[in-house]
Amino acid sequence: MDRVKGKVALVTGGAMGMGKTHSETLAAEGAMVFVTDLNEEGGKAVVKGIQDAGGKAEFIKHNASSEADWANVAATIKAKAGKLDVLVNNAGILILKPAHETEPDEWDQVFNVNVKGVYLGIRACVPLMKDAGGSIVNISSIYGIVGAPMAGAYIASKGAVRLMTKSCAVDLIQYGIRVNSVHPGVIDTPMTKDLLHGDLETRTAIMGATLFDRPCRPEEVSQAVLFLASDDSSFVHGTEIVVDGGYTAN
Ligand code: NAD
Repeated sequence: MDRVKGKVALVTGGAMGMGKTHSETLAAEGAMVFVTDLNEEGGKAVVKGIQDAGGKAEFIKHNASSEADWANVAATIKAKAGKLDVLVNNAGILILKPAHETEPDEWDQVFNVNVKGVYLGIRACVPLMKDAGGSIVNISSIYGIVGAPMAGAYIASKGAVRLMTKSCAVDLIQYGIRVNSVHPGVIDTPMTKDLLHGDLETRTAIMGATLFDRPCRPEEVSQAVLFLASDDSSFVHGTEIVVDGGYTAN
């Protein structure tokens, strides 16, 4: 309890999946959490759940790939909380196609959310963090480290997030801002519902290299986010935490 007490956090894509559990975990450990998402109904439900459990949270409707929306998010947090300690760049999308079959507008769609969204978030939030320092947690993937079939734009985008994290770590430590990436493996969320709960062949292919006989639970990734958000990780900077049940070890 209270591992991030007194901190103000922002989680993008917080309406469902891992963004929901990151928001709930940070709030349960004492943070005031701004939950943002395109999905207003889902985001408000997450906030209500946090508040009903005694935590502090607020929803802001937000397209993470929009510069104007980021300006609104930063202005709202400045007005309501006066600072930001933790930025979790979680919003992301997946298009299941190999690069050579991906249309240019699909490529842009993935990069606009997964890469430009992270960049815009850092750009908008650093002014709110630089006086007191803080922690930026960028959600990449094991597919920002290794390849896989059928996700050319996604894998390229998550690789970009991994190295954006390291370049920002070099640039932002002057403000006391730590920057790290989290690399989940196969996680049971709405994003992977069709893959993990579909036919046996797809499930076996997806789960193939995982050394556990189950997908990871979103809450297990949230523990890595919590560690990076908290002062427990005070010397952890510019690096990556892989939560993949051994997938990349195999
Ligand atoms: P999800 O699809 O279950 O949830 C994503 C959330 O992001 C949704 O609430 C959605 O509305 C929101 N979102 C999408 N585009 C947005 C935008 N432009 N602006 C604001 N919100 C937006 O996804 P998830 O599985 O929880 O994944 C969360 C993050 O973790 C993503 O970055 C994803 O790439 C990454 N990831 C997921 C897995 C997995 O197996 N599920 C593995 C590795 C990494």
